[in-house]
Amino acid sequence: MFCNQCEQTARGTGCVEKGVCGKDEDVQSLQEILLYGLKGMCAYAHHARRLGMVDEDVDAFVEEALFATVTNVNFDMDSLFGLVLECGRKNLRVMEMLDEGHLKRYGTPSPTTVYEGTKAGPGILVTGHDMVDLEDLLEQTEGTGINVYTHGEMLPAHMYPGLRRHEHLVGHYGGAWQKQKKEFAQFTGPVLATTNCVLIPREEYKDRLFTTRVTAVPGARRLDTDDFSEVIDCAKRCQPLVDEQVGESTIGFHQSVLLGLAGEIVEAVKAGSLKHFFLIGGCDGAEPGRNYFSEFATHTPPDSLILTLGCGKYRIRDHDYGTIELPGVGPVPRLLDMGQCNNAYGAIQVAVALSEAFDCGVNDLPLTIVLSWFEQKAVAVLLSLLALGVRGIRIGPAAPAFVSPNVFKILQDQYDLKLTTAGDPLADLKASYPLQS
Ligand code: SF4
Repeated sequence: MFCNQCEQTARGTGCVEKGVCGKDEDVQSLQEILLYGLKGMCAYAHHARRLGMVDEDVDAFVEEALFATVTNVNFDMDSLFGLVLECGRKNLRVMEMLDEGHLKRYGTPSPTTVYEGTKAGPGILVTGHDMVDLEDLLEQTEGTGINVYTHGEMLPAHMYPGLRRHEHLVGHYGGAWQKQKKEFAQFTGPVLATTNCVLIPREEYKDRLFTTRVTAVPGARRLDTDDFSEVIDCAKRCQPLVDEQVGESTIGFHQSVLLGLAGEIVEAVKAGSLKHFFLIGGCDGAEPGRNYFSEFATHTPPDSLILTLGCGKYRIRDHDYGTIELPGVGPVPRLLDMGQCNNAYGAIQVAVALSEAFDCGVNDLPLTIVLSWFEQKAVAVLLSLLALGVRGIRIGPAAPAFVSPNVFKILQDQYDLKLTTAGDPLADLKASYPLQS
């Protein structure tokens, strides 16, 4: 048994036996939740800083919170629980800064249809979350005849006028991070990875994989400046891509778009033509059981809207959900892609605006939240929702290993946090919405 907290490990002698050092399992669980939340929040904060958005209070909190994980034996549950919730509040602030940074730099988003596939000629694929890298690459490839494509979480870049004004941002290629090994091997040009959701490359494409700054994987070439000449040279040497459209998608339902439709949405609810909202998204993953989210979404009723974000969207977007009629607007897609996982900030703004319009609390809205979780950013987003007092969230496909039974019980008791029911998404759906048989 390895313990990452006790003195024996600190001296490099290894753990004697679980419990011998006096380590408290629940304190350790809260410290790990805090650490994972901090890691996710700092990843967002790093992107926000690149957009010129910083907050001294957030930085001070990171120091305080890390300090509270120095040892396991002299912190108590209550103070740690408070820090866990504060991490959620600070992450909300960070997601807000990231959103503001994107808006200031790239303009107000709008729905747009994105070509999916490849076009004839040399091309570069950009994956991850850092839109400043995409912007730099677009500027450096202007007029070179090289096309640029988004991949994975970079898809929402197309909703910003300041990015899609570049005509050589020609489309999107591929899905969630776990399909990279297949998709990057098939894409014949270089790939630029801008965040940690990148897999160690296969031999066949490792000489075409570039990472930026803190993002690094064995075998790939890490770039530590904003000069993408090497990527561009690689694109010129690589086998050109061919014309092959695999589809198209409509994205760009940022909160600014949805808040602009708030009056019509409220009218539809009052008229009874719109009965329920679902937020289904988060971090996708490769392990079995994630078809839960596809099945859950597929069976949502036609008088509901589904908001999605993060790479969890790739689990649910292949189904045709049809449209729903909004008074004075006409048909809008039932599945509304709000953006990257950090656009959870926008989903929260929409929920708050609806609760104000209906003069009720967020927990009283006809809203069901189902989050797929995998890595630290999903933990940070979950903490933000809990810090706001949102109850009844379902997470899955499995219980996080770092949450001890006692801590999970506290989260269940205080926030009605639930796990997805393995193999039975319909049961969970029925529990959240009175389905017509
Ligand atoms: S949603 Fe999560 S898993 Fe997916 S790319 Fe973003 S951080 Fe990674």
